Amino acid sequence: MRTPIIAGNWKMNTTYDEAMDLVEELVDGLEGRGEVEAIDVVLCPPALWLFPAAEYVEDTGLLLGAQNCHASDRGAFTGEISAAMLADQCSYVIVGHSERRQLFGETDAIVAAKAAAVLRHGLRPIICVGEGLAERDAGETDAVIARQVAAGFASVEAGQATDCVVAYEPIWAIGSGRAADGAEANRVAGIIRATLAAQFGAERAGEIRIQYGGSVTDANIAEFIGQPEIDGALVGGASLKAETFIRLCTLAAGGAAE
Ligand code: PEP
Repeated sequence: MRTPIIAGNWKMNTTYDEAMDLVEELVDGLEGRGEVEAIDVVLCPPALWLFPAAEYVEDTGLLLGAQNCHASDRGAFTGEISAAMLADQCSYVIVGHSERRQLFGETDAIVAAKAAAVLRHGLRPIICVGEGLAERDAGETDAVIARQVAAGFASVEAGQATDCVVAYEPIWAIGSGRAADGAEANRVAGIIRATLAAQFGAERAGEIRIQYGGSVTDANIAEFIGQPEIDGALVGGASLKAETFIRLCTLAAGGAAE
């Protein structure tokens, strides 16, 4: 059985006060809720807020994640944060988000190096993959996804594979309000799992969690969480509204929305 995982990617949003208010509201709404505690809920605020947020989430069952890291442990990389620095601050690190790939020129090789760095420091990478609209329209989705998954896991040893999470995020669905069709997202998740099986074997691949991401809200989470190959969601915009994210997590955990 794969434990469902919902991660909230706050991106470059929130002031310190807004971030602490949001964490507090999420803790109030989710802590002690048995059904929600049965899934992994990961909050990914801006890196600067990880340290103060840790105090709020301690012993609540909620987990923290970073949105990015550098592949090197230290050095002359002005403005960057290493996985070594994040090791005591959080449990997960998102790597290869399409915004990083598109706006900051991250290649498959860079994403692979970051995933390796995350694992080297005892953290779990959420490795993002996803096709652009032109690639989808050209019928290249499956090939693009298989390439990104194989490349992202290139340096991952078999024993570490199940510490990784894959987020399938079609680029055209991110922030667009136009989520993928659940059945189609499940089909692509199947491609991801088959690619993982080719590297790690079917049994290990069957234990790796695959999220869907792209305009997920409390209104459509059920469509994705109900798919056999999908084990949760990476949530952007809807993770910034406490009530919505609490409802979304509750539904993902199989609870009744209030
Ligand atoms: C994301 O940024 O990973 C994302 C899925 O954003 P949104 O939910 O806003 O589409």
